[in-house]
Amino acid sequence: MGLLPAAGAALFAPAVFAPALAQARPKVVVIGGGPGGAIAARRMASLCDVTLVEPNPVYRSCFFSNLAIGGFLPFEALAHGYEGVRATGVTLAPLRALGVDPAARTVTLEGGVTLPYDRLVLAPGIAYRDEALPGWSPADEAVIPSAYVTGGDPRAIRDQVLAMPEGGTWCLVAPPDPSRCPPAPYERVSMVAHLLKTHNPSAKILIVDPKPRYASQALFEEGWQAHYTGMIDRLGPDFGADNIEIRPGEMQVIVDGAPEDVDACNVIPPQRAADICVAAGVTDDTGWAPVEATGMASTLQPDIHVVGDAASTGAIPKAASAAASEGEAAAAAILHALDLAPERAALYRSACWSSIAAQDAVAEEGAYAPGPDGRLAAVEHAISQTGEDPRTRRANWDDAFAWYADLTAEVFG
Ligand SMILES: Cc1cc2nc3c(=O)[nH]c(=O)nc-3n(C[C@H](O)[C@H](O)[C@H](O)COP(=O)(O)OP(=O)(O)OC[C@H]3O[C@@H](n4cnc5c(N)ncnc54)[C@H](O)[C@@H]3O)c2cc1C
Repeated sequence: MGLLPAAGAALFAPAVFAPALAQARPKVVVIGGGPGGAIAARRMASLCDVTLVEPNPVYRSCFFSNLAIGGFLPFEALAHGYEGVRATGVTLAPLRALGVDPAARTVTLEGGVTLPYDRLVLAPGIAYRDEALPGWSPADEAVIPSAYVTGGDPRAIRDQVLAMPEGGTWCLVAPPDPSRCPPAPYERVSMVAHLLKTHNPSAKILIVDPKPRYASQALFEEGWQAHYTGMIDRLGPDFGADNIEIRPGEMQVIVDGAPEDVDACNVIPPQRAADICVAAGVTDDTGWAPVEATGMASTLQPDIHVVGDAASTGAIPKAASAAASEGEAAAAAILHALDLAPERAALYRSACWSSIAAQDAVAEEGAYAPGPDGRLAAVEHAISQTGEDPRTRRANWDDAFAWYADLTAEVFG
């Protein structure tokens, strides 16, 4: 059970499509096999020739990776193959997409393969803004793992935390808004605090955060006070944390000119839509891909839909369940535009679970619909409250595990 009624049921009710026309099946290419792209591909496969372009044979979810860092599930549990997606009739192209020609309606893959399309769905997730954090570059990943894009290495974060000297300091550099799953950096802090409390109880955590406020702040602060008293400090912009530099070689974070020596560090850099969105010409000055809210169609390029974290659609957060509902909406809009299905009202849902300690989780859920300005607006919203009964938090914890199992089964089969 979530905080909002019947969230999962409404999101994943199977669509009833009209029979296909007796003509060549339309060609749809989907780039990116995460929750946004894989759902979109599956939903169109019975009526269109769908090719899913995804270079990784196995999807390793960012969502729930914090729990693996904390030791509450094995890292292997984050891996999902594409057999279930293939079984619905989707063709897998196990290559990276390098370019899109919207005028010719073709996608170029590594190796020079070209795929023609009638409709294209871009679901490639996010990229880091390499230039936005002085001193940090993707080449530092081996020393300072970020593990915030799909394909990153959250195991390295756990290994570094466990290797810290007694009483050492672990630092998390949080991203500015907008970013993927806004509460996730603070859930990561919670899971690292859990690890340290067990293995290195005199160690400290320093959060360096350019934002004045962050998602579910009161809930995290209350939980940290209860479970990890005196262990976690946060420097916000009032302490100069909006002016930082990273020195990976020295393992230092420079906050407004003052060096902080740390023993291990997790930098979550500023973010934007992934490279293929830039190549396709669907991003604007914000670095994200603006789309219209009824079917996630790009406002900048015809016949291209953008779903998941790469898209900019109004109030809906960048979250896995949101990405899946956006994939559903794009699939329905494309099938309708191709005359293969009746029109369907767009309703989007999002659920973000944050584990604070063992059997203590909080949640934020929302439902979203197109507003008068053409962007998504919240029509329902629910969030955990401070001071809740431990049984409620335990129920949230169980719900989070059930949510992960349901969502990944729905996406990957
Ligand atoms: C630590 C953490 C915790 C999180 N917790 C939650 C949570 O509790 N709840 C929640 O709902 N969300 C959570 N999220 C957010 C969630 O992971 C993302 O919102 C979700 O993965 C977005 O899905 P997506 O399909 O847009 O992108 P992704 O899942 O990133 O998938 C994109 C896919 O595109 C592929 N790709 C990229 N470029 C190309 C290319 N050029 N060619 C071909 N393929 C390409 C990638 O290989 C990848 O498989 C969390 C995220 C993190 C980092």
